[in-house]
Amino acid sequence: NAAAVPALECRGLERRFGGLVALKDANLRIERGEIFGLVGPNGSGKTTMTNAITGFFPPQVGSIWLNGRDITGMAPHKVAALGVARTFQNLALFNGMSVLDNILLGRHIHMKPGVAKTALYWWLGRKDEMVSRLKVEEIIDFLQLQSVRDELVDSIPIGLKKRVELARALVAEPSFLVLDEPMAGMNQEEKEYMARFILDARAERNVTVLLIEHHMDVITGICDRMMVLSYGETIGTGIPADVMKDERVIKAYLGG
Ligand code: ADP
Repeated sequence: NAAAVPALECRGLERRFGGLVALKDANLRIERGEIFGLVGPNGSGKTTMTNAITGFFPPQVGSIWLNGRDITGMAPHKVAALGVARTFQNLALFNGMSVLDNILLGRHIHMKPGVAKTALYWWLGRKDEMVSRLKVEEIIDFLQLQSVRDELVDSIPIGLKKRVELARALVAEPSFLVLDEPMAGMNQEEKEYMARFILDARAERNVTVLLIEHHMDVITGICDRMMVLSYGETIGTGIPADVMKDERVIKAYLGG
Protein backbone atom coordinates (compact mmCIF):
# COMPACT_ATOMS: atom_id res chain seq x y z
CA ASN A 1 0.00 0.00 0.00
CA ALA A 2 1.87 3.03 -1.31
CA ALA A 3 -0.28 5.47 0.65
CA ALA A 4 1.03 4.03 3.90
CA VAL A 5 4.68 4.60 3.04
CA PRO A 6 5.85 7.62 5.03
CA ALA A 7 7.82 10.42 3.38
CA LEU A 8 10.54 9.99 5.95
CA GLU A 9 11.27 7.59 8.72
CA CYS A 10 14.16 7.63 11.19
CA ARG A 11 14.73 4.60 13.35
CA GLY A 12 16.88 4.70 16.45
CA LEU A 13 19.32 7.36 15.29
CA GLU A 14 22.35 7.97 17.43
CA ARG A 15 25.27 10.31 16.95
CA ARG A 16 28.13 10.92 19.34
CA PHE A 17 30.88 13.49 19.19
CA GLY A 18 33.62 12.12 21.45
CA GLY A 19 31.96 11.50 24.79
CA LEU A 20 28.98 13.71 23.99
CA VAL A 21 25.75 12.05 22.88
CA ALA A 22 24.35 14.65 20.46
CA LEU A 23 21.42 12.46 19.42
CA LYS A 24 20.06 9.41 21.19
CA ASP A 25 17.52 6.85 19.96
CA ALA A 26 15.73 9.37 17.76
CA ASN A 27 12.63 7.97 16.06
CA LEU A 28 10.60 9.92 13.60
CA ARG A 29 7.88 9.21 11.08
CA ILE A 30 6.70 11.98 8.78
CA GLU A 31 3.73 11.28 6.53
CA ARG A 32 3.57 12.66 3.00
CA GLY A 33 2.26 16.19 2.92
CA GLU A 34 2.90 16.87 6.58
CA ILE A 35 4.57 19.96 7.98
CA PHE A 36 6.57 18.54 10.86
CA GLY A 37 8.25 20.70 13.47
CA LEU A 38 11.60 19.85 15.04
CA VAL A 39 12.08 21.88 18.19
CA GLY A 40 14.49 22.13 21.08
CA PRO A 41 16.80 24.49 22.92
CA ASN A 42 20.25 25.30 21.51
CA GLY A 43 22.51 22.27 21.42
CA SER A 44 19.63 19.80 21.72
CA GLY A 45 20.52 17.91 18.52
CA LYS A 46 18.29 19.47 15.85
CA THR A 47 21.14 20.18 13.43
CA THR A 48 22.68 16.79 14.13
CA MET A 49 19.39 15.17 13.19
CA THR A 50 19.05 17.31 10.05
CA ASN A 51 22.61 16.53 9.00
CA ALA A 52 21.90 12.82 9.42
CA ILE A 53 18.80 13.00 7.24
CA THR A 54 20.46 15.01 4.47
CA GLY A 55 23.59 12.85 4.44
CA PHE A 56 26.02 15.48 5.73
CA PHE A 57 26.89 13.52 8.89
CA PRO A 58 25.50 9.97 8.81
CA PRO A 59 24.26 8.52 12.11
CA GLN A 60 26.50 6.02 13.85
CA VAL A 61 23.49 3.92 14.84
CA GLY A 62 20.05 3.62 13.28
CA SER A 63 18.55 3.96 9.83
CA ILE A 64 16.85 6.59 7.66
CA TRP A 65 14.16 5.83 5.09
CA LEU A 66 12.96 8.17 2.37
CA ASN A 67 9.74 7.10 0.66
CA GLY A 68 10.40 3.56 1.87
CA ARG A 69 13.97 3.51 0.62
CA ASP A 70 16.95 3.11 2.93
CA ILE A 71 19.16 6.18 2.52
CA THR A 72 21.34 5.67 5.61
CA GLY A 73 24.90 6.78 4.90
CA MET A 74 24.09 8.03 1.41
CA ALA A 75 26.14 11.04 0.22
CA PRO A 76 24.41 14.45 0.36
CA HIS A 77 24.23 14.88 -3.43
CA LYS A 78 22.55 11.49 -3.78
CA VAL A 79 20.03 12.32 -1.08
CA ALA A 80 19.40 15.60 -2.92
CA ALA A 81 18.92 13.75 -6.20
CA LEU A 82 16.21 11.67 -4.50
CA GLY A 83 14.23 14.84 -3.86
CA VAL A 84 15.46 16.25 -0.56
CA ALA A 85 16.26 19.97 -0.50
CA ARG A 86 17.33 22.05 2.46
CA THR A 87 17.90 25.59 3.53
CA PHE A 88 20.49 26.58 6.09
CA GLN A 89 20.19 28.38 9.40
CA ASN A 90 22.96 30.75 8.42
CA LEU A 91 22.21 31.96 4.95
CA ALA A 92 24.23 30.17 2.30
CA LEU A 93 23.63 32.67 -0.49
CA PHE A 94 26.31 33.98 -2.85
CA ASN A 95 26.87 37.67 -2.30
CA GLY A 96 27.87 39.56 -5.41
CA MET A 97 25.39 37.54 -7.44
CA SER A 98 21.85 38.50 -8.32
CA VAL A 99 18.75 37.03 -6.73
CA LEU A 100 17.98 35.34 -10.04
CA ASP A 101 21.40 33.68 -10.33
CA ASN A 102 21.29 32.52 -6.71
CA ILE A 103 17.99 30.80 -7.37
CA LEU A 104 19.25 29.34 -10.65
CA LEU A 105 22.00 27.56 -8.68
CA GLY A 106 19.31 25.41 -7.12
CA ARG A 107 18.72 23.84 -10.55
CA HIS A 108 22.19 22.30 -10.73
CA ILE A 109 20.77 19.15 -9.28
CA HIS A 110 18.88 18.71 -12.56
CA MET A 111 21.82 19.25 -14.90
CA LYS A 112 23.13 16.06 -16.45
CA PRO A 113 26.93 15.96 -16.32
CA GLY A 114 27.13 12.77 -18.42
CA VAL A 115 25.52 14.61 -21.29
CA ALA A 116 28.72 16.61 -21.82
CA LYS A 117 30.31 13.54 -23.42
CA THR A 118 27.68 13.15 -26.13
CA ALA A 119 27.00 14.85 -29.43
CA LEU A 120 23.64 15.88 -28.02
CA TYR A 121 25.39 18.06 -25.49
CA TRP A 122 24.69 21.36 -27.13
CA TRP A 123 21.04 20.68 -27.71
CA LEU A 124 20.32 19.01 -24.37
CA GLY A 125 22.32 21.65 -22.54
CA ARG A 126 20.22 24.34 -24.15
CA LYS A 127 17.05 22.48 -23.31
CA ASP A 128 18.10 22.07 -19.65
CA GLU A 129 18.97 25.72 -19.50
CA MET A 130 15.61 26.71 -20.94
CA VAL A 131 13.61 24.48 -18.61
CA SER A 132 15.64 25.81 -15.68
CA ARG A 133 14.96 29.43 -16.63
CA LEU A 134 11.24 28.75 -16.86
CA LYS A 135 11.21 26.95 -13.53
CA VAL A 136 13.12 29.78 -11.87
CA GLU A 137 10.71 32.39 -13.20
CA GLU A 138 7.80 30.31 -11.97
CA ILE A 139 9.25 30.11 -8.46
CA ILE A 140 10.09 33.83 -8.48
CA ASP A 141 6.42 34.50 -9.19
CA PHE A 142 5.28 31.97 -6.61
CA LEU A 143 7.38 33.58 -3.85
CA GLN A 144 6.71 37.13 -5.04
CA LEU A 145 10.34 38.00 -5.65
CA GLN A 146 9.79 39.76 -9.00
CA SER A 147 10.68 43.22 -7.71
CA VAL A 148 14.14 42.09 -6.54
CA ARG A 149 14.99 39.44 -9.12
CA ASP A 150 17.87 41.44 -10.65
CA GLU A 151 19.15 42.96 -7.40
CA LEU A 152 22.38 41.78 -5.80
CA VAL A 153 21.38 39.36 -3.08
CA ASP A 154 23.54 41.26 -0.53
CA SER A 155 21.43 44.37 -0.98
CA ILE A 156 18.03 42.96 0.02
CA PRO A 157 16.60 42.68 3.56
CA ILE A 158 16.93 39.48 5.63
CA GLY A 159 13.28 38.54 5.17
CA LEU A 160 13.74 38.46 1.41
CA LYS A 161 17.10 36.68 1.63
CA LYS A 162 15.39 33.87 3.50
CA ARG A 163 12.78 33.79 0.77
CA VAL A 164 15.50 33.53 -1.88
CA GLU A 165 16.87 30.54 0.01
CA LEU A 166 13.45 28.94 -0.03
CA ALA A 167 13.21 29.68 -3.76
CA ARG A 168 16.56 28.06 -4.41
CA ALA A 169 15.41 24.93 -2.58
CA LEU A 170 12.07 24.86 -4.42
CA VAL A 171 13.49 25.13 -7.95
CA ALA A 172 15.04 21.72 -7.42
CA GLU A 173 11.44 20.46 -7.29
CA PRO A 174 11.92 18.57 -4.03
CA SER A 175 9.42 16.18 -2.52
CA PHE A 176 10.95 16.68 0.92
CA LEU A 177 12.03 20.07 2.18
CA VAL A 178 14.16 20.67 5.26
CA LEU A 179 13.95 24.25 6.51
CA ASP A 180 16.47 25.23 9.17
CA GLU A 181 15.07 28.20 11.09
CA PRO A 182 13.55 29.90 8.05
CA MET A 183 12.19 32.73 10.19
CA ALA A 184 15.34 33.56 12.16
CA GLY A 185 15.92 37.31 12.37
CA MET A 186 12.55 38.17 10.86
CA ASN A 187 10.01 40.70 12.05
CA GLN A 188 6.40 39.69 12.61
CA GLU A 189 5.22 40.60 9.13
CA GLU A 190 8.08 38.74 7.45
CA LYS A 191 7.37 35.71 9.64
CA GLU A 192 3.73 35.70 8.59
CA TYR A 193 4.70 35.88 4.92
CA MET A 194 7.12 32.99 5.31
CA ALA A 195 4.53 30.89 7.13
CA ARG A 196 2.09 31.53 4.28
CA PHE A 197 4.66 30.52 1.66
CA ILE A 198 5.49 27.29 3.50
CA LEU A 199 1.80 26.39 3.65
CA ASP A 200 1.38 27.26 -0.03
CA ALA A 201 4.43 25.17 -0.97
CA ARG A 202 2.83 22.19 0.71
CA ALA A 203 -0.53 22.79 -0.91
CA GLU A 204 0.61 23.70 -4.42
CA ARG A 205 3.98 22.02 -4.84
CA ASN A 206 3.35 18.73 -3.03
CA VAL A 207 6.21 19.00 -0.61
CA THR A 208 6.54 17.44 2.80
CA VAL A 209 8.29 19.78 5.22
CA LEU A 210 10.60 19.26 8.17
CA LEU A 211 10.72 22.62 9.91
CA ILE A 212 13.37 23.41 12.48
CA GLU A 213 12.18 26.38 14.42
CA HIS A 214 12.76 28.30 17.61
CA HIS A 215 9.56 30.28 17.57
CA MET A 216 6.84 28.25 19.26
CA ASP A 217 4.08 30.39 17.76
CA VAL A 218 5.28 29.36 14.30
CA ILE A 219 5.28 25.69 15.21
CA THR A 220 1.84 25.72 16.74
CA GLY A 221 0.60 27.85 13.85
CA ILE A 222 1.63 25.72 10.88
CA CYS A 223 2.90 22.31 12.00
CA ASP A 224 0.69 19.22 11.91
CA ARG A 225 2.93 17.39 14.33
CA MET A 226 6.16 18.08 16.12
CA MET A 227 9.03 16.53 18.02
CA VAL A 228 10.95 18.11 20.87
CA LEU A 229 14.60 17.35 21.60
CA SER A 230 16.50 18.13 24.77
CA TYR A 231 20.16 17.12 25.19
CA GLY A 232 19.78 14.73 22.27
CA GLU A 233 16.77 12.96 23.73
CA THR A 234 13.24 13.01 22.42
CA ILE A 235 11.09 14.44 25.19
CA GLY A 236 7.87 14.87 23.28
CA THR A 237 6.25 14.03 19.98
CA GLY A 238 2.72 14.48 18.63
CA ILE A 239 0.36 17.26 17.69
CA PRO A 240 1.54 20.67 18.96
CA ALA A 241 -1.45 21.24 21.25
CA ASP A 242 -0.65 18.05 23.17
CA VAL A 243 3.12 18.33 23.12
CA MET A 244 3.04 21.88 24.44
CA LYS A 245 1.14 20.67 27.51
CA ASP A 246 3.75 18.05 28.34
CA GLU A 247 5.53 18.78 31.60
CA ARG A 248 8.96 17.75 30.33
CA VAL A 249 8.59 20.03 27.34
CA ILE A 250 7.48 22.99 29.44
CA LYS A 251 10.38 22.39 31.82
CA ALA A 252 12.96 22.11 29.02
CA TYR A 253 11.83 25.46 27.70
CA LEU A 254 11.26 27.38 30.89
CA GLY A 255 14.12 25.82 32.77
CA GLY A 256 16.62 25.53 29.97
P1 ADP B 1 21.01 22.26 17.81
O1 ADP B 1 20.96 22.24 16.34
O2 ADP B 1 19.75 21.76 18.45
O3 ADP B 1 21.41 23.59 18.36
P2 ADP B 1 23.30 20.52 17.46
O4 ADP B 1 22.78 19.35 16.77
O5 ADP B 1 24.02 21.55 16.66
O6 ADP B 1 22.11 21.22 18.29
O7 ADP B 1 24.28 20.07 18.63
C1 ADP B 1 24.00 19.00 19.52
C2 ADP B 1 25.23 18.79 20.40
O8 ADP B 1 26.26 18.21 19.62
C3 ADP B 1 25.78 20.06 20.98
O9 ADP B 1 26.21 19.80 22.30
C4 ADP B 1 26.95 20.38 20.07
O10 ADP B 1 27.95 21.09 20.76
C5 ADP B 1 27.42 19.01 19.66
N1 ADP B 1 28.01 19.00 18.31
C6 ADP B 1 27.37 19.23 17.15
N2 ADP B 1 28.19 19.11 16.10
C7 ADP B 1 29.40 18.78 16.60
C8 ADP B 1 30.68 18.51 16.02
N3 ADP B 1 30.90 18.56 14.71
N4 ADP B 1 31.70 18.23 16.87
C9 ADP B 1 31.52 18.19 18.22
N5 ADP B 1 30.34 18.42 18.81
C10 ADP B 1 29.28 18.71 18.03
